[in-house]
Amino acid sequence: MKLDLHIHTTYSDGLLTPQQVVEQAKAIGLNTIAITDHDECRGFGDVKDETGINIIAGIELSANFFGEVHVIGLGIDWQNKNLLAHVESQLQSRRRRAEAMVLKFRDNGIEISMDEVMDECKGEVLGRPHFAEVLVKKGHANSTKQAFAQYLNKDAKCFVARGKVDITQAAKLINDAGGKTVLAHPGLISGTNWNALSTQLIEFGFWGIEAYHPAHTNGQCRAFLSFAKANGLYVTSGSDFHGSAKPAVQIGQEHRGGKYLFTSAAALSEKS
Ligand code: AMP
Ligand code: FE
Ligand code: FE
Ligand code: ZN
Repeated sequence: MKLDLHIHTTYSDGLLTPQQVVEQAKAIGLNTIAITDHDECRGFGDVKDETGINIIAGIELSANFFGEVHVIGLGIDWQNKNLLAHVESQLQSRRRRAEAMVLKFRDNGIEISMDEVMDECKGEVLGRPHFAEVLVKKGHANSTKQAFAQYLNKDAKCFVARGKVDITQAAKLINDAGGKTVLAHPGLISGTNWNALSTQLIEFGFWGIEAYHPAHTNGQCRAFLSFAKANGLYVTSGSDFHGSAKPAVQIGQEHRGGKYLFTSAAALSEKS
């Protein structure tokens, strides 16, 4: 089985539309994919499923647990009312944050308008990658990476925080929408926070962890696999494909999972 359970589209900060993602997945021989945009799930509605591959409706929620963590929902009812209300409130919070960032850029002598940022954003989920695109186009940075380092990272000049839900609320939103809750790229969480979080994942309503992600070393993949097996959790695998925001990552490129990943994929496709 070839699968990719973590893919971004133009509905958040990805390069390809949901339909283009499906077509590319088909072209490279994947048979299961999940569309997991940041704080957005409506992209699934744009898929015209004519390819014969299994397409899972998903979302990647930004949440708080002593800092930002990402929580993936797989197999959600993407039209669930509470989930869509959350999507809407995050869109507004991101819009307010973008407006505050425009002012911060102005204070730092850089004129960027909301229209310019919105032109880079094909959907409605305004994010820092869209600012990065404008900065590069206007010659204020040479690359997305540099734009983040100089202006957009948490400790950089023009960073503005945005509102996020607590991790337990994120899991509840997903579970209540009929989805399975998965901790995204646990290897990107600090050691201290992982130690605190790992013992509570089941209690918080998590179904699995994304053991296989391009940012993980082989050692981390193995450690997360053993952890999941020992703690009654499933594992998932995803490329976290974005396109231009992370140009080195391609759809379907994460393929380190073995037997237990297939067990997890089978459990994922069972109706709960
Ligand atoms: P936001 O959703 O506005 O908080 O922006 C977060 C998104 O920015 C992440 O999902 C990544 O796609 C992207 N990102 C974060 N850090 C970097 C970086 N250093 N270089 C490129 N993209 C980044
Ligand atoms: Fe992103
Ligand atoms: Fe993420
Ligand atoms: Zn992601």
